[in-house]
Amino acid sequence: MLFLVMAIPEVKASLGATAKILWGGTFDPVHQGHVSSALELSGYLGVQPIHLVPNNQPVHRQMPAAKAWQRLKMLCLAIQDYAQLAIDERELKRCGPSYSVLTMQEVRQEIGPDVPLIWCMGMDAFAGLQQWHRWQELLNYGHVLVLTRPATSWPTDPELLTWYAAHKVDEAKYLLASPSGQVAHLELGQHAVSATQIRQQLRLGQKPSATELAPAVAQYIASQSLYGIN
Ligand code: ATP
Repeated sequence: MLFLVMAIPEVKASLGATAKILWGGTFDPVHQGHVSSALELSGYLGVQPIHLVPNNQPVHRQMPAAKAWQRLKMLCLAIQDYAQLAIDERELKRCGPSYSVLTMQEVRQEIGPDVPLIWCMGMDAFAGLQQWHRWQELLNYGHVLVLTRPATSWPTDPELLTWYAAHKVDEAKYLLASPSGQVAHLELGQHAVSATQIRQQLRLGQKPSATELAPAVAQYIASQSLYGIN
């Protein structure tokens, strides 16, 4: 009889440790690309909640158009029906630039050394990872999960690709088998929506569809006259 032995990593998370999943962003505004992808990620990993982490002072982009408390309110409205999603407000409470490595370090201290910790980012954010403060140290505290995004291709920077290859696991689920130190990428349902596009639509007086922007968020934007709405 032929026995095939396959090397499948043991998934410790299923043995008791609960993974902590963080999804950082500016959320200016939060849109259905964020929400749908985070829900799908929760289903794929079998972990909830996914913690959305709004930044206070984004490091590699212009300051947000909406104020921090308005972005937070929009996040609350967008996730209100979903037990799979939560908001982590720590970066809004911290002064200074919102460095992800500090957030990872802080969360690692809170959850102890054994729990898998994952920082999620879209492919566009991954392409600029080398500009992040102490970016290589992210893996000291947790894993990095890169989510593909429509119209965004793999970066070509050799240093970034070498780093990725040195730490990658073949399936995103394998990140749940250890606390830190690895990278994976995952293709979820592709939602072709961005906050830039939403802001532009609103500025032009167009109405984003409910598959792009949650109706409760759209109502709030109108009530606050955000993004050029009068
Ligand atoms: P902007 O257009 O203003 O740059 P954005 O749509 O990229 O905004 P962010 O708040 O900057 O939204 O995104 C937070 C994180 O979510 C980033 O890592 C980003 O790559 C990811 N992300 C945003 N939209 C999507 C999407 N449609 N699918 C997958 N990931 C996404």
